[in-house]
Amino acid sequence: MGLIAVLVIGYVITGPLRHMVDTASRIADGDLTQRANVASRDEVGRLATAFNRMVERVHASQTELQQVNQSLEARVRERTETLQIEVEERKLAESVAKRAAIEAERANQAKTEFLARMSHELRTPMNAVLGFAQLLRRDQQLPERQRSRAEQIVQSGTHLLELINEILDLARIEAGQLSLSPENINLLPVVDEVLSIVRPLASERRIDLVNALNETDFTVYADRTRLRQVLLNLLSNGVKYNRLNGTVTLSVETIDDAKLRISVVDTGNGIPEHRQGDMFQPFNRLGMEDSAIEGTGIGLAVSKRLVEAMHGSIGFKSVAGEGSEFYIDLNLATKPDDPRWTRDRSVGANRIGGNLPAISVLYIEDNPTNMELIRDIFDEGVPNASLQCAEDGPTGIQMARQMRPDLVLLDIHMPDMDGFAVFAQLRQAPETKDTIIVALSADAMPRDIEKAMDAGFDHYLTKPLDVEELIRVIDRVTLRIAHR
Ligand code: ADP
Repeated sequence: MGLIAVLVIGYVITGPLRHMVDTASRIADGDLTQRANVASRDEVGRLATAFNRMVERVHASQTELQQVNQSLEARVRERTETLQIEVEERKLAESVAKRAAIEAERANQAKTEFLARMSHELRTPMNAVLGFAQLLRRDQQLPERQRSRAEQIVQSGTHLLELINEILDLARIEAGQLSLSPENINLLPVVDEVLSIVRPLASERRIDLVNALNETDFTVYADRTRLRQVLLNLLSNGVKYNRLNGTVTLSVETIDDAKLRISVVDTGNGIPEHRQGDMFQPFNRLGMEDSAIEGTGIGLAVSKRLVEAMHGSIGFKSVAGEGSEFYIDLNLATKPDDPRWTRDRSVGANRIGGNLPAISVLYIEDNPTNMELIRDIFDEGVPNASLQCAEDGPTGIQMARQMRPDLVLLDIHMPDMDGFAVFAQLRQAPETKDTIIVALSADAMPRDIEKAMDAGFDHYLTKPLDVEELIRVIDRVTLRIAHR
């Protein structure tokens, strides 16, 4: 009995404790669902309850930990996905941007080619129109009335050519393809030249054109042709938008010793304040579109871009009913002249008199109308020259080597062999290596001219041809031969 009693008591006391130890070990192995048996209300029962509460808390914190963990994992996953999407998007954007840049480059290239072709195509027929009209104008055998009609054709054609040039200029600027040739320029001769061009228009409208430079010269760093173009635009606007018997004054002042302000002040109607914000916008005539004053609204937009390309600025002040002042600020000269561009580009000499030595000229050109024009010019304007013509490059080279002309006039665009290839062969042949070769082309872009001058052409004449300029070139060749 004693032994049995001891065993029973032992079992009653140690049984729950053993169960608790098993439970604790299973919990330690990770199974938190295990609970101790709370059968008795004694010490062991309270211990089991406390043990279970502790396990509950651990379970709760572990669940919480798991939730936090899960939410963290979810966020990491989400962020990774977002990052992947961002990387993909960035890659896509980069490839789209790259493709857009290639497209833009291609479009720009196409635009350049279109402009060059357009310019060439427009200039070629204008060459015939203006060339023959210039010939008629200088034909003393024609009655005065006919010559004045020819004069009208020359004037309107020149105006048309200016418009074509302005539109091409604007397009060229927009395409970022305007190349300027800045050099140190004395202002006085440029001002004298532009004033003399505007003077007939001014006197037609009885407008006093005042040169306030008072013979004081300044040297500015600018592209001569473009500066001339801008000043012409400002002066002719001053005249166009003036009142009868008004005044246009051109003056200069230095700013900070580094810049020169050239101002054109008029006594016209001015520009209404509410329109002034639209100034310099291409094709915007600021309300003048219905007026009788002719214009396209491009001049000032082009002028602004040209002045800025010369590192200058343009501005204006205007009071409606009183007049306007347009000014450009340009850098005073500091840099040395670029010898390539100051090389004698203006052919200069006047028609020379006396006993002229005979000169021989070969014209290589595929276009029959252009050829006819040059033949007519030589027949009527250059009595001392004998002209031969070749219709293509190879024939031209052959003829040049045989006849050894004093001057070769060479078209650039020819179907089988272009002017540059002809030029290269002429320079290589011993008979023609020193012959004066002048390009005569409808390619009138500055880079075309630059390319030809770099190749070694002696001069570059653009179509539409200025007949007087061609005659001056021939005079120079004649002079050279006379001094041999
Ligand atoms: P266009 O004279 O061919 O119309 P511009 O680009 O030279 O083109 O000028 C744009 C506009 O600015 C003109 O149409 C005119 O309304 C105004 N404008 C320019 N110069 C003057 C000026 N000196 N006085 C008054 N208005 C002017």
